[in-house]
Amino acid sequence: MKAAIYPGSFDPVTYGHLDIIKRASKIFDELTVSVLNNKTKTPLFSVEERVKMLEEATKDMPNVVVDSFSGLLIDYAREKDIHVAIRGLRAFTDFEYELQIAQTNRKFSGGDLDTMFLTTSLEYAYLSSSTVKEFASFDGDISQCVPEFVAKLIYEKYRHLRQA
Ligand code: ADP
Repeated sequence: MKAAIYPGSFDPVTYGHLDIIKRASKIFDELTVSVLNNKTKTPLFSVEERVKMLEEATKDMPNVVVDSFSGLLIDYAREKDIHVAIRGLRAFTDFEYELQIAQTNRKFSGGDLDTMFLTTSLEYAYLSSSTVKEFASFDGDISQCVPEFVAKLIYEKYRHLRQA
């Protein structure tokens, strides 16, 4: 069975991520989309909330599994016995950073973990979770960026934060 992991923050999942998920799920028999519990970032959504959103957004994709992990991707991949990581590339600026991470992961996994890049569909090239959040925090229209249920959760989160 050909399996891959798509790791990321997914804070929150956007149409750009979903496009990569859809395309990767057609290449692999099983795709594990895994939310990284990154202690150095302050996320808008908890890991549990992000996992739930991804589960809902991928519910019609039977070979997509949603999970979360902390620590090193190479350790998580080894535990799962998966040897390919998927990353999306939007622009040249993503490339330099991603190339370095991919080479590090390959080196430190002893060649066990390769990274496969999918280039973004052009209509999503501008999209990032952080710009979606920034827009939503000022009540901007994010209907072209994320599924409707995700948009609702983002607006709700900012309402709560404003009231806190
Ligand atoms: P990270 O914090 O790990 O970069 P993200 O959730 O921001 O996590 O992104 C996860 C992966 O999805 C990364 O490989 C990123 O380049 C890719 N990605 C994010 N937005 C898009 C998009 N609009 N189109 C294609 N790939 C994307």
